Amino acid sequence: MKHIVRIGDVSKGEIEQLFTSARNMRDLLAKNTLSRRLEGKILTALFYEPSSRTFGSFIAAMQRLGGGVIPIQGVAYSSVAKGETLEDTIATFSKLSDAIVLRHPQEGAAAIAAKASSVPVINAGDGVGEHPTQALLDLFTIRDHFEDLSNITVTLVGDLLYGRTVHSLLQLFGLFPPKKIILVSPDALRMPESLVAPTMHQTNQLDEALGETDVLYVTRVQKERFEDPASYDAVKDSFHITKETLEKVKPTAIIMHPFPRVNEIALEVDADSRAVYLREQIANGLYVRMAILDYIFTQ
Ligand code: ASP
Repeated sequence: MKHIVRIGDVSKGEIEQLFTSARNMRDLLAKNTLSRRLEGKILTALFYEPSSRTFGSFIAAMQRLGGGVIPIQGVAYSSVAKGETLEDTIATFSKLSDAIVLRHPQEGAAAIAAKASSVPVINAGDGVGEHPTQALLDLFTIRDHFEDLSNITVTLVGDLLYGRTVHSLLQLFGLFPPKKIILVSPDALRMPESLVAPTMHQTNQLDEALGETDVLYVTRVQKERFEDPASYDAVKDSFHITKETLEKVKPTAIIMHPFPRVNEIALEVDADSRAVYLREQIANGLYVRMAILDYIFTQ
């Protein structure tokens, strides 16, 4: 049984296989010739925290492949509100469905769920821990532009302390290493030391990185992880990407964001051909999640 709780749960070979499958899903969807290969399978989408893209794309992925879903977005109306434990909730949905996608506010929740489950568990974000399927769609997007990562510079900007997408993405770069990784954050929001290698460059000055960057990956300051509003306010507007910022970025670069954005990227940037967060990343999330579900159910 295949759980995807952390990036370490997928090998380089499996990722290449998933990407081939995701490209295939993209082609079949464009031609409207997808088969209903997951007919008869049911996925539980169990989300204890807000979500738009991850929740929506897992459900769309399942339905595009002919499968069914139990959508639980917010647990206010489930037995969780009566005090049910995560383990009991997972044990229940293991009996009602063939796989569970879980988003939960606590780091480590997906690992606990995998232990309690008799069906595969996919981590759709566990607190400040990981978000492996987001990192896979991010790498898929990068590979569409740069087949060979070994001569590109990737710059991760923003809340690197609490941002789970960058925690997973950085680990994924361990398998597919770029030439250079630059980590740009306010000092209070630096990437956890355990994930930083000595070859990575850390700074709080975005301008230092812009000229050599091929992939500019911008993140939101994770307001919901701060204990007091004053410390959030002190860092919330640390970086703001505008048209002027882009003048310093290579014409061949791409600008990414896992979304939602708050104030990190000005709306005027959306029309720039380098901005791929709306144009590519969201649809790639669908193709990659279709490939993941297909793999989980049919391996
Ligand atoms: N949607 C992403 C996540 O759930 C990024 C974010 O919320 O900032 O981690």
